[in-house]
Amino acid sequence: MTQRITILGSTGSIGKSTLDVLARHPGRYEVFALTAATQVDLMLAQCHAFRPRLAVMASEAHGRQLAERLAAEGLDIEVRWGAEALVQAASQAEVDVVMAAIVGAAGLAPCLAAARSGKRLLLANKEALVVGGALFIEAVREGGATLLPIDSEHSAIFQSLPEDRSSWSRRIDHILLTASGGPFRERDPASLAAITPAQACAHPNFSMGRKISVDSATMMNKALEVIEARWLFDLRPEQIKVVIHPQQIIHSMVQFKDASIIAQLGTPDMRVPIAYGLSWPERIESGAAALDFSRLAQLTFSPADAPEQRARFPGLQLAWEALRAPEGTTTVLNAANEVAVDAFLSERIRFDQIHQVNLAVMESVQPEAPAHLEDLLALDARARAAAARRVQGIQA
Ligand code: NAD
Ligand code: MG
Repeated sequence: MTQRITILGSTGSIGKSTLDVLARHPGRYEVFALTAATQVDLMLAQCHAFRPRLAVMASEAHGRQLAERLAAEGLDIEVRWGAEALVQAASQAEVDVVMAAIVGAAGLAPCLAAARSGKRLLLANKEALVVGGALFIEAVREGGATLLPIDSEHSAIFQSLPEDRSSWSRRIDHILLTASGGPFRERDPASLAAITPAQACAHPNFSMGRKISVDSATMMNKALEVIEARWLFDLRPEQIKVVIHPQQIIHSMVQFKDASIIAQLGTPDMRVPIAYGLSWPERIESGAAALDFSRLAQLTFSPADAPEQRARFPGLQLAWEALRAPEGTTTVLNAANEVAVDAFLSERIRFDQIHQVNLAVMESVQPEAPAHLEDLLALDARARAAAARRVQGIQA
């Protein structure tokens, strides 16, 4: 039967890769809704190619612009805008699958809506789970949704685990998240202060959105992934380890109680975890090239917690600290990091000051245990305000 899909963030890197996979399987999937923040031209092209029933833009101005151009080209597609329209696109009764590929906490509300309405929820938007934590998982359980990881590391873990979820806690000793180490893996830590946004966004193996590119360069991306893994696989913080593996061939591994390790391998191509999320428990063609072992020179590994890596990437350790701190601390850390990365990308603070902002906000904003989405959003706003003050303090 045809699956109807909503893609939140269709104009981004993950959104485009998702459409690439869908285009290989006409008849199997039908696009119900596409959503984007500001890119009207690309949205128009995607509407031509995929004929969704609904297109959502972030603002009224962009929404009206899109509606006019669709009408001028004779395309009968409903256009909406704003946060409520995203929630509708994610929870409408006709929708079977939701790809969550918005960047940042902005994706939380539609993710929760998809979870509560029992969708197959493909989660690329890791910040939503980092912010939502226990509430997010509760919404998935209550709504009877199927939450499937798209982050390549978490997809690798998921592919390495047995299908019977109830056996996971009995069988898993710990998981090993692999990390590329980003473009500055071997740089003199003292030189990181001079890094420009363009340097930080030039990732060695992937072309990704700017926010995740900076997160990869600071290794805050791995910190967010540690927190994401805690919730996806119900692990204790000490059961999550990180190892640097620059080639990104092993996407992550699980070590079981008997010391046996199962890993998932492949070329670094996000279409593989996307195709797996779409087709699970089946497998469909993804468009990715397979590994050629005759040309694979070497796989190397090094500890992420070695003293020189701690000096380069002080943010990574914040993941375990935030997980052990009172509930809500991961929400605070994520908000601080979003503000700090934005300030770095607009050249208001230096690369190394991202960590200073994160640390200061984590230490100064005391969370109260969030019970509702509103509590999370209020805590997120409070942490953003504290981070903005810190950024201003640095600039002054
Ligand atoms: P991107 O910046 O390329 O795309 C983001 C998308 O979200 C765009 O379509 C944009 O229009 C939309 N968007 C941004 N802000 C919005 C807002 N406030 N309201 C509504 N829509 C908004 O980012 P990306 O690289 O595709 O990453 C998306 C998510 O997937 C991130 O959470 C990232 O961490 C995660 N992820 C990405 C990759 C990758 O390879 N790119 C890998 C793993 C996980
Ligand atoms: Mg990842």
